[in-house]
Amino acid sequence: MLPIIPKPQEQKILSDKTYTYTLADVREVRDDSLPKSGYALTIDDGGIRVKASDDDGFYYAKVTIQNLMELGELPNVEVCDYPRYAYRGYMLDCARHYHSLDAIKKIIDAVARFKINVFHWHLTDDQGWRVQIDKYPLLTELASYRDGTRGDGKPVHGYYTKDEMSEIVEYCKQYHMDVLPEFDVPGHTAAAISVYPELDCFGSKIEVKDSFGIHPEVLCAGKERSVEFCKDVLKEMFEIFPFHLIHLGGDEALRLHWLDCPDCQREMAENGLKNEDELQAHFMAKLARFCLENGKTVINWNDGMVGENVDDSIVVHYWQSAPVNKVAAIREINRGKKGIISPFFSYYLDYPYGMTPLKKTFAFNPEIEGVEKTENILGVEAPLWSEYVKSEEDIHRQTFPRILAVAERGWSAYHDDYKDFLARVKYNYKIIDNVGIRCVTINDTDPNPIKKVVSLLKFFGNAWDKTQILNRLNVTENKIRLRKKYGK
Ligand SMILES: [Zn+2]
Repeated sequence: MLPIIPKPQEQKILSDKTYTYTLADVREVRDDSLPKSGYALTIDDGGIRVKASDDDGFYYAKVTIQNLMELGELPNVEVCDYPRYAYRGYMLDCARHYHSLDAIKKIIDAVARFKINVFHWHLTDDQGWRVQIDKYPLLTELASYRDGTRGDGKPVHGYYTKDEMSEIVEYCKQYHMDVLPEFDVPGHTAAAISVYPELDCFGSKIEVKDSFGIHPEVLCAGKERSVEFCKDVLKEMFEIFPFHLIHLGGDEALRLHWLDCPDCQREMAENGLKNEDELQAHFMAKLARFCLENGKTVINWNDGMVGENVDDSIVVHYWQSAPVNKVAAIREINRGKKGIISPFFSYYLDYPYGMTPLKKTFAFNPEIEGVEKTENILGVEAPLWSEYVKSEEDIHRQTFPRILAVAERGWSAYHDDYKDFLARVKYNYKIIDNVGIRCVTINDTDPNPIKKVVSLLKFFGNAWDKTQILNRLNVTENKIRLRKKYGK
């Protein structure tokens, strides 16, 4: 069995011979009968032969060969390989904490070795705006800066110029990787509202948030100017990011302001919308149609897709498994929408290994129960949110080796041989090391019960503070007010 990750679809070791060929010994032949992004590879006395039907196929064959070379001598082998899913993503949140271009490039170097092909770049949030937008200069002049985090007095700031973002797009091209930018609306917009308060229902005067969680300030869904703002931002983002998908967030948007806003309530009445979930879907549909006119398809986190009137074009990004949200995600995928699978309890890399051990990430089957049309699953993604991920070392430790399990699920046929997977993970530490990344030790990827409890206490002891409690109260008030209004 070849030691590489992700595991190839088919492999046949022909003998125990080994070779010391180089990439110069590769002969490429086009074969249109092979699947998209797939390849056939033979390593024998005659050298290295690769067949593929497209550039991606030749590229992934090269990644396989390079990884085999890095792990030892080349075996006498035949491989027939292709990805299970077209979308295999890794997300980095650069809004909660700014991460340098060099840090981003290094993590891209590393995840590319495991055939990840989408870099999802979370660029805007309550705690900072990171995208240069010429029409709204205050977004970067002021909203990219916060005085500190939860009162620590240490400023966090930084944004990406258009040239820098284009540089990342170009950088990813060498790895046949697309960049998916995220502009999160209508919630998680406190940084934008801090400099353009007219975007909020009541023109709230607020600062860029220095605490995490869910905040009440969201874009007004009834005033035309917030839709115009989003379109203006998108127009400039389209010039930077050529990928046909764009992420518009849609998660964790509280309805507290919408419930009291005459413009939001008028918009609901005029359009016959049943509730605020439908108001969000209605707002998002305006943006989704604008994106389609510009050749882009919108992705939304599934908790923003509870309304029955979600635009047909929107891709479901499943993360939230609370019943109402899971039901909505499954309903929309079964109705024909495409889905990307990022389960909170298995793929969220910001949580400690005590909560999400490698074994748990590996065990998750992306074909979630209830989805009848599994062909609508575009693929998988592991998000790394950066509320508590500040340094490059933090990024590395949280990402590796768990991303390997997601890479295996995104590419290989589903199997449950954890022992075999873990043996290959150990082998692949060498590749990750060579990129300059330190993983957690293999023992700490599946910590024992005592270590588990310690890591959970440490993480949640740090995360739970006064501001998180205030946030929870907002969420509860939101629930109570909706229940009062709709009687359920
Ligand atoms: Zn409003």
